[in-house]
Amino acid sequence: MELGYGTQHEAFREQVCAFLRGHWPPRETDAASASPEQIRSFRRAAIDAGYLYRNIPRRYGGSEQEPDILAAQIIREEFGAVRAPTELTGQGPQMLAPTLLERGSEWQKEHFVRKAIEGEHIWCQGYSEPGAGSDLASLRTTGVLQDGEWVITGQKIWTTHWKRAQYMFALVRTEPEASKHAGISYLLLKMDQPGVEVRPLKQITGDAEFAEVFLNSARTPAEWIVGERGEGWNVSRSLLRHERNMIGSANRSAGLFRSLLRLARKTRINGRPAVEDPQIREMLASIYGYVETQRCSSYVQLTRELNSRDAGTLPMFNKITDTNIGQAVSKLAQRLLGPESILAPRGQPPGRTSGNEKWMNQFMGSLGMAIAGGTTNIQRNIIAERGLGLPRDVAAAGVEES
Ligand SMILES: Cc1cc2nc3c(=O)[nH]c(=O)nc-3n(C[C@H](O)[C@H](O)[C@H](O)COP(=O)(O)OP(=O)(O)OC[C@H]3O[C@@H](n4cnc5c(N)ncnc54)[C@H](O)[C@@H]3O)c2cc1C
Repeated sequence: MELGYGTQHEAFREQVCAFLRGHWPPRETDAASASPEQIRSFRRAAIDAGYLYRNIPRRYGGSEQEPDILAAQIIREEFGAVRAPTELTGQGPQMLAPTLLERGSEWQKEHFVRKAIEGEHIWCQGYSEPGAGSDLASLRTTGVLQDGEWVITGQKIWTTHWKRAQYMFALVRTEPEASKHAGISYLLLKMDQPGVEVRPLKQITGDAEFAEVFLNSARTPAEWIVGERGEGWNVSRSLLRHERNMIGSANRSAGLFRSLLRLARKTRINGRPAVEDPQIREMLASIYGYVETQRCSSYVQLTRELNSRDAGTLPMFNKITDTNIGQAVSKLAQRLLGPESILAPRGQPPGRTSGNEKWMNQFMGSLGMAIAGGTTNIQRNIIAERGLGLPRDVAAAGVEES
């Protein structure tokens, strides 16, 4: 494994740092109080300079750079170090756009990619159904082609981003005669139409991040299919890979750990900064060990990709480590904040917020990460069976992973 980036890439790092010094934070503003307009204009400048959306052609809104995994890593590191805005997050930019680039038709790329990465179109993912989560290929929502339109009937669940989403990418059974996996197509549809009914699911936080989406003869044009009829399972495979990459990022864990460290410096135990308490130090050191392990395994993944070798089960390993780090960080943050940490995270009247919303939401979110994008149980089974060659888990026999 080569850990050094080499002189050429270190020179590139200098260019990135010089760009950041010139552009971030915007003049007379600190990073935290930059306006949405300033953030948008910074992103535009970073795209023009070739630092964001590198793998997306300019005609679809990207910066169209030669693939260079080390350069991409350097950009992540340096942008992260000064907390500069990076590529937009969410299911549109991070999942749909790469999927369309890989599997979409020319008009789909032209019509949807730029708007997804600029956040003009907000997308949600219509995959899970009651009875089809881990065993996703059991999904029962149907799509029938009638007079140049897909007519879609069924139910989706756990739909995140429903509040703002104008569009959904969905897996739908269009070939009822075909076998389980071969009968599915990948369709795009508008949310704002009479056939789509959204019912929010209220969470313990009082918020409703998820919704059930009922599709009652919802309609979408025949050409809003990605890939061919019955190819949706394979299209969704590329998408799940993007989702796991999105969830399992070593940089996110490192950023989270830095926030925890700031909290430990700020909080006091027996009149001293918590970061000086021996028990807290031990816990911090243990989490830091996992953060560094994840960084190391990300480098292994990078090296494999550089050598055009399959990353195997490493992305799954990284997703599990990422989930575990998120949970460990949240638990320690709660310990540092004490009873205050359970003050209601959202929806408080002005002036009554605890200031700890971020940590409470991080805690709640960290539990969900063990489920989203493929549960930890299933990922462990795949690592065991495909990675280590262990026999199939008898308890899970007959159930497909998603
Ligand atoms: C934060 C979050 C956001 C989400 N966002 C979306 C979204 O936007 N769109 C969307 O479509 N879905 C979304 N989901 C749903 C998510 O994809 C599913 O929850 C997930 O696939 C698990 O499915 P399930 O909930 O039906 O659980 P199940 O599949 O019923 O699993 C229940 C339990 O059984 C275990 N299990 C099941 N099968 C096996 C097996 N073969 N081997 C071992 N253990 C097994 C699981 O690990 C789990 O512990 C989201 C979920 C979360 C938590």
